[in-house]
Amino acid sequence: MPSGAPDGTAHAGGPLDCPGCRTPMRRVDLDRKHHGRVVVDLCNACQALWFDALESLHLSPVGTLALFRAIHAARPEARRALPSRVSCPRCDTPLTLTHDLQRTTRFSYYRCRHGHGRFTPFLQFLREKDFVRPVPPDELKRLKKLVRIIRCSSCGAPVDLERATACGYCRAPIVVLDPDAVTKAIRQLDTAETHAAPPDQNAAGFLEAARFEREMKREQARGSQGSMVDLVSVGIGVLAAALFARG
Ligand SMILES: [Zn+2]
Ligand SMILES: [Zn+2]
Ligand SMILES: [Zn+2]
Repeated sequence: MPSGAPDGTAHAGGPLDCPGCRTPMRRVDLDRKHHGRVVVDLCNACQALWFDALESLHLSPVGTLALFRAIHAARPEARRALPSRVSCPRCDTPLTLTHDLQRTTRFSYYRCRHGHGRFTPFLQFLREKDFVRPVPPDELKRLKKLVRIIRCSSCGAPVDLERATACGYCRAPIVVLDPDAVTKAIRQLDTAETHAAPPDQNAAGFLEAARFEREMKREQARGSQGSMVDLVSVGIGVLAAALFARG
């Protein structure tokens, strides 16, 4: 699709340019909590999302799962690091890095001080929505047998699973998708959609070892720059395969 084509969504003035790399973002039209739609702009290269004003808060579980699908489809072979200065796609003011806390979950985003919206890296979005959790010790033991060096889901730096349980560079803990949170969202999806309900065994066992391992190998084979995998991306891959295989 030509990047400048109007697509009939509510944004004025065509696609927004990414605050990180300044190329046009892709619009994703998603389900809203209490009727209606939310339009989110997504940058593949930067692996980040732009939410106008309070759009993020209004996303329904169904919309959140649909966003997972978009995130999965958008994953690039190499992620671009965000520049130190990112600007609002609406008013060009430099965005402010904001640290937030929801219950016990810390997450961050870049916010326009004129209230136009926020720019959120995918992983931070998953944290905000309580979709990731630190890897439990027994799971870590299992993972270490499969892979030694992973890529930090927060900053992209390599993490040696033999020696660390957090990223030595940005201090973020090693996280994976939280199966309970995902299962809960899928259940809500189930009740919201009469057709195409995902099979239950997929919902329950989507992070089950064999699947995770298969997806991890696929992800390793896919990377052109070494074989480092991002555990959250692997989890999203498993989920996408389970939920959207026929969709
Ligand atoms: Zn970008
Ligand atoms: Zn602004
Ligand atoms: Zn890191």
